Amino acid sequence: MSDHKTTTRLDLFIDRMVSQRACLDAAIAQTKGRNEPVFELGLGNGRTFHHMRERIHDRDVYVFERALGSHPDSAPAEHLTILGDVRDTLPAARDRFPDGASLIHADLGGHNREKNDAFARMISPLIKPLLALGGLMVSSDRMYFDAFEEQPLPEGAVPGRCFIYRRAG
Ligand code: SAM
Repeated sequence: MSDHKTTTRLDLFIDRMVSQRACLDAAIAQTKGRNEPVFELGLGNGRTFHHMRERIHDRDVYVFERALGSHPDSAPAEHLTILGDVRDTLPAARDRFPDGASLIHADLGGHNREKNDAFARMISPLIKPLLALGGLMVSSDRMYFDAFEEQPLPEGAVPGRCFIYRRAG
């Protein structure tokens, strides 16, 4: 019998969670002290939002979500909630946030990898104008930015499970 072990859904889930935390912690530290707000794209259960809200004390964390349904402890304040489809709310946010966001985290995907990839490709140009100069984006899906630099992953993150991009210019 072969000793080779396949990657299970549990493995993938754990890798994604561990990577999200490692990448978020690194990106929060690297953007500390900046004035621009932070965006969470996709609230879901609110785990990553809760982590960000607990770790970020110097900036507001705005949540973009089409249907709120988080754990009660992880519900964003109303004035920090941008309700609607990100295909509409991201372009509309440009006027409200002319300086952009210092950190954007996106976890908008579901179970279908191909659909997630197509969606990431489609929203990349909508996210691009919202990231401040020198700002960071953490994403669970590979994004399609021609001008942003993909950053090395911090210790503990699993390659392919999380991505970090920096707007250099
Ligand atoms: N990071 C979250 C957590 O830790 O609990 C999980 C996010 S969940 C995987 C993805 C969320 O993105 C869902 O709540 C879904 O409603 C939201 N979402 C997906 N596509 C969206 C869209 N086009 N506009 C707004 N929200 C969307």
